[in-house]
Amino acid sequence: MKLSNMFFKTFREDPANAEINSHKLLVRAGYIKQLGNGIFTYLPMGLKVLEKIKNIIREEMNAKGAIELQMPILLPQEIYANRIQTFGNTMYKLQDSTGKDYCLGPTHEEPFTFLVKESINSYKQLPITLYQIQNKYRDEIRARFGLQRAKEFIMKDAYSYDTSVENLDKSFGKMKDAYTNIFTRLGLDFVPVEADNGVMGGAGSIEFMVKADIGEDEIIVCDCGYGANTEKAECVFEQVDNSSVERKEKELVHTPNTKTIEELTEFLQVSKDNFLKAVVYSTDKGVAVALVRGDRDVEEVKLQNNLGAISMEMATPEQIISIGSVAGFVGALNLKDCIVVADNDVKNMVNFVIGANKQDYHYVNANLEDLNINYFADIKKMRAGDKCPRCGGIVRTVRGIEVGHIFKLGTRYSKALECKYLDENGKEQYMIMGCYGIGVSRTFSALVEQNCDEKGIVWPEIVAPYKIEIVVANNKDELQKSVANDLYEKLIDSKDEILLDDRNESFGVKLNDAELIGVPYIVIVGRGAKDGVVEFIKRSTLEKVEVAIDDLVTKFKNM
Ligand SMILES: [Zn+2]
Repeated sequence: MKLSNMFFKTFREDPANAEINSHKLLVRAGYIKQLGNGIFTYLPMGLKVLEKIKNIIREEMNAKGAIELQMPILLPQEIYANRIQTFGNTMYKLQDSTGKDYCLGPTHEEPFTFLVKESINSYKQLPITLYQIQNKYRDEIRARFGLQRAKEFIMKDAYSYDTSVENLDKSFGKMKDAYTNIFTRLGLDFVPVEADNGVMGGAGSIEFMVKADIGEDEIIVCDCGYGANTEKAECVFEQVDNSSVERKEKELVHTPNTKTIEELTEFLQVSKDNFLKAVVYSTDKGVAVALVRGDRDVEEVKLQNNLGAISMEMATPEQIISIGSVAGFVGALNLKDCIVVADNDVKNMVNFVIGANKQDYHYVNANLEDLNINYFADIKKMRAGDKCPRCGGIVRTVRGIEVGHIFKLGTRYSKALECKYLDENGKEQYMIMGCYGIGVSRTFSALVEQNCDEKGIVWPEIVAPYKIEIVVANNKDELQKSVANDLYEKLIDSKDEILLDDRNESFGVKLNDAELIGVPYIVIVGRGAKDGVVEFIKRSTLEKVEVAIDDLVTKFKNM
């Protein structure tokens, strides 16, 4: 492709509201253009990268026997009847001229399951894994970070249908391997992490996280290979023998103007871990009080799963009064009409500080015997420095961008949608499902987050829009132009992998653009052209060498 013929424009300035490198650079380098908040056009070079990512995904999915098809984006709303509430305002709803309700597909479990239900009736036709690469829609109020969190985005979504839990494990394992291959081939630094399955979920869930400081998720990792998000990470509990420590008598203390733990511990001259923190939630199972050591946080997903609650939110001050306490001074003494769950760590606490259920009062020297606890459980959030549940080593935290998620669904959808098959005995059984997503547009931007420098994007070769960019240093120099054209003709192939910058721009502009758009190899045809020599720059290191044109051609023909 000759840049003079290309639909292409670069920008020196970052786009307004762009907060992260991938958003800034993809817009500046002319890969994408924003059409509206959270809606983007893929410009010609962006489309080339996108197609390469899609093809790697396809190759690895097909290698595992998954079969591609394409579902519509416009879908009758009624097929989502079972969970339309769950989507709430995030679903784009619309009507046709007859008043029939439609939506723009947010995710495709239902359409796939209806298709399989109507097409498959015997165990002989199973297992099957179907997938598509398709646009998805979510009415994000806070669309931000460019392709990271958009209203229209591209997903690869796959759904497996099996006859048993053991077979689902096999289908799930194949997809795990496919995902590992995909993200490895893309050259991403990623980590698969155990994720929460939700109260309604099946028996397994793994998120594929690309490590990036701008990532919205915090993940726990260990050198042994263990990875989990904090919603799932299981804290190790070690009982401390403190039986010889003298238990003191609890004492009511006036603690005015101590709204925060910091103020309280300062006032009482105790450390945070000697304070028992109580957090009150309103759930569909009733009011729940979670107790954790003062220096730790409640992991709400772990707590919610433990309670078996479908919904959970912070309790109101009125609800706190209704259990016999007052906001800011909750202690687990003589509370009524609530469930009290304490983190395992609390078992090791002695002579601690708790709220006295009375405005401006705490107890000091409280002990477990003073409390009413329904049960102990692992409900605290794991953090860096904690023990690894797998190897006992010390875990670290990193930030990550979720690019893939594989999930064992079990019979959740097949039961709801009556998706059955006939087994060997001619008996009706529900199909066992798994679902497997990759955020394709999100992977696109994650690639840029991990592959850029202060000059621009540095594409890994496998997804770069072009392999080589040839730059004519001086367009007024006919010899340079003809040498560059000649080189272009020698290198060009059917795959359109060579870019020639023959625009009537200054050398400075062309070099800046080349570094910004990030093609892996840049060849400058300048003054040396008359001697058959060009300058060869490796974009990743910006290392420059002079090479003979003939050697260059041979080298690239052999690549
Ligand atoms: Zn470990």
